[in-house]
Amino acid sequence: MIYFGYPVINPFRSHTPAGFYDPIKGHTGIDVATPMNTGISLAIQTTVVSVKTQPQMGLSLYLRDADGNILVFSHLNSISVVVGAAVPPNTVFAMTGNSGSATTGPHLHFEIIAPAPAPGFEMMSRTLGEFSGFNINPATYMDNLPQHWSDEAMSWMLQHGIISDSKDPNAMVTWGEFAVSSKRLAEKVLDWSRNS
Ligand SMILES: [Zn+2]
Repeated sequence: MIYFGYPVINPFRSHTPAGFYDPIKGHTGIDVATPMNTGISLAIQTTVVSVKTQPQMGLSLYLRDADGNILVFSHLNSISVVVGAAVPPNTVFAMTGNSGSATTGPHLHFEIIAPAPAPGFEMMSRTLGEFSGFNINPATYMDNLPQHWSDEAMSWMLQHGIISDSKDPNAMVTWGEFAVSSKRLAEKVLDWSRNS
């Protein structure tokens, strides 16, 4: 498991702040402490299925993956793709922000509406706009995505402290992923490819 990027400040199914979420389901996604205008990309190909401005979640982007999961990115500052477009892997498609009323500072709310529940979590039904299904843990989803960096790039980033490889459960707070890659990281990797 590889961790890098920004801290998860509110995990899946969190009940903090008290009274804010459904008492049983809790937080529908994860909140990642991304600074304003952090580029977001994914290691997989997706399709843009909706762009919305929602009162609480602000500017939100809905992508569908090959398995029919709907990936929801909220509180965005800007979106650079349009409905119907295919988003190639490793392409920045939006910039994080602080839009909507349900936010106290810049962060990314990332949630997934899957066609079927995770085993034992049938209670996690979710309808958001025209999308219905079941919330699954985005952190687990990200852990299962293909790694798009070469072994050489990974070892370079490990050596330079850009990522850390840790099984320490405390490292959950520094969960990053292959989804939320900062512009800074992207630049470093580009530097690496240019100079290698
Ligand atoms: Zn959230």
